[in-house]
Amino acid sequence: MFPWGNNRRFNSYSSYFQREFGSRVQKISIDAGFSCPNRDGKISTGGCTFCRNDAFNPSYCRPEKSVRQQIEEGIEFHQRRYRRAKSYFAYFQAFSNTYKSLDELEKLYREALSVPGVIGLVIGTRPDCINEEILEMLQSLSYPPYPPYPSYQRSAYPIILEFGVESVYDQTLQRVNRGHDFATARNAIKLVHSYGFHCGGHFIFGLPGETRDMMLNAADIISQLPLTTVKFHQLQIFKDTKMADEYLANPSDFHLFTLEDYIEFVIDFIERLNPNIVIERFAGEVPPRYLVSKPWLNLRYDQVLALIEKRLAERNTYQGKNYLSSLS
Ligand code: SF4
Repeated sequence: MFPWGNNRRFNSYSSYFQREFGSRVQKISIDAGFSCPNRDGKISTGGCTFCRNDAFNPSYCRPEKSVRQQIEEGIEFHQRRYRRAKSYFAYFQAFSNTYKSLDELEKLYREALSVPGVIGLVIGTRPDCINEEILEMLQSLSYPPYPPYPSYQRSAYPIILEFGVESVYDQTLQRVNRGHDFATARNAIKLVHSYGFHCGGHFIFGLPGETRDMMLNAADIISQLPLTTVKFHQLQIFKDTKMADEYLANPSDFHLFTLEDYIEFVIDFIERLNPNIVIERFAGEVPPRYLVSKPWLNLRYDQVLALIEKRLAERNTYQGKNYLSSLS
């Protein structure tokens, strides 16, 4: 039995849901027609060099459909596949989902919360697209002052903010044209935490210019952030992106993990990771037709996860094993 209350060798997302909400909760992705300041010209027009949002969007997510329609279709889709899920988080996933006026944001979030079965929100955004006004509005949604409350034991809608952080190194963030530095991400995570919301961070392993040691050292930096959850992705290079042009022009500039390398790397990484941080994902999975880099044998994420868990057992190790020693 590990500190997170079960015998899996990492602090898993499913046990987080079980602990926090008493059951499985399914996320339903939404594309609510947001843009991104790193694409619309406010910061830049190019976007992050690796960005290709459509590779991640499920087919039912189309911004021309209302938020309600997307959630209802998403629930129907998931009920066919996972009959156990009864509660849902509306997941504002595509682009920067806090990047509209306060009134528009409130209207979209309220629409999502009004769909039967939705018990909360997950809102994905950039660290430079959050502020106190938005967090105050979210607090007013999270703790509605009048009934009916959702059928959820704490009489509140949980709201999780999820930031793309990608790297803890400013030179990397500059190189991929992120348009913000790491201090911006750290401050945003601290701000969200100070409002009592759970906060997630997304990181990519293998960005150009980062060595294995740099990536491993990031575990100590990430461990100090007040993050509730993390998602990790191996670098995958998507067609029709600036990074694809750079990669095709100069492949030796990129270190793309093989599956075997990656499994050893993420295990070394999570040995140093704070055991209180929940790991939502270890790796990304996109249809191979989007990639110029080679996919890993077309494995699905659950197969990659099974290999990581098998190797954790073979190495007789677990998340946080070297957490304290890495700080001394
Ligand atoms: S911030 Fe997100 S949506 Fe905007 S360009 Fe970067 S990856 Fe794409």
